[in-house]
Amino acid sequence: MTDHDPGCERCEELLQGYLDRDLAADEVVVAEGHLDGCDYCRRRYRFEERLRRYIRVSASERIPAGLRQKLSELRDERPASSSS
Ligand SMILES: [Zn+2]
Repeated sequence: MTDHDPGCERCEELLQGYLDRDLAADEVVVAEGHLDGCDYCRRRYRFEERLRRYIRVSASERIPAGLRQKLSELRDERPASSSS
């Protein structure tokens, strides 16, 4: 059983900037290197990417408050292990 990788924390920090293409070159290397080897973060990355695309598409429309709430809940939800 693997504990939460400290690399994952770093990767999560970088993830938003990575999605925004807003990272320094060395940070991109860190993020990509980690995503390449970490299933957890790769899934998270895909999820965020899809979420962003969806938000961008629906940005021109009115997003119901309930849906926005649901989206932010989804973002906070972590597919983490059950240990706490
Ligand atoms: Zn990771």
